Amino acid sequence: MFLATLRPAAEDVIPLPTEGKTFSQRLRKVLERVLAVIHRTLFPFLMLLDAALPIYAIDVRLMKYLLSLTENAHVSKPHTRAAITISVIFGILWLLWTVPLGYCLWSHYWVARRWKPVSTPLPNKQVSGKTGEPRLCYRCNIFMPARTYHCPVMDKCLPHYDHFCPWWAGGVWIHNLKAYLLFLAFLPPYQAFVFGIGMWVAADKDKRSSCKIVMGTGIACGAALVLSTVIMLEMWIRLGFWNLLTSEHDGCFLVDDAGVPQEIKDPWDQGWR
Ligand SMILES: [Zn+2]
Repeated sequence: MFLATLRPAAEDVIPLPTEGKTFSQRLRKVLERVLAVIHRTLFPFLMLLDAALPIYAIDVRLMKYLLSLTENAHVSKPHTRAAITISVIFGILWLLWTVPLGYCLWSHYWVARRWKPVSTPLPNKQVSGKTGEPRLCYRCNIFMPARTYHCPVMDKCLPHYDHFCPWWAGGVWIHNLKAYLLFLAFLPPYQAFVFGIGMWVAADKDKRSSCKIVMGTGIACGAALVLSTVIMLEMWIRLGFWNLLTSEHDGCFLVDDAGVPQEIKDPWDQGWR
């Protein structure tokens, strides 16, 4: 009953901002759309390249080259063995990051799409400021439970919502947080392996280095490796070890046992467990 009286009425739900009328507002709108297109297409395209190009370079081009050498009588066994070893390790490393990524995509486009934001019973530990008011989401028309945040892309409140990841065009939230961390953890070893193969090919001046596509893919993966490692470390330290969501970077307000709101820097930090 208490909840029903405090809950915003349906007509109070704030509609999305309408189209701007002035030139600067229109310009901003255009820029936002361009950025959205980049977010939704360019980054996922690069991610797709990361998955597909090494398959072509290693499984098709390099294997064809290595196995063709076995037909020449002088060196047969070492190349077959190298081909098998490279293929098996590559296959394992490829699956290690694409399976969690697939789970993340399913979580965003299937589970989160069907997710119904729920209002929390009051009182709730996490409040909106020093006044201690409950956190209201006027878009979803709910009292936000602790650690629930509104995803502007999905336009709904999701528990443990962290951020919208442009690389695979999906949101990180409670359902795919662990899979997301696994995906991040297994991407750099994969890129390092492809980089290593590229360098191995390049190192043989006379024979293997004719596989230019493998060398190129290796160098590209080496460059991507640096970026992936930085993102992976940042996410693992913050999400994995500090238990801190993006929206909680600057701390948040929690009511203590006496009901007084306190601003706490990292209330859910459990240390390096
Ligand atoms: Zn919301």
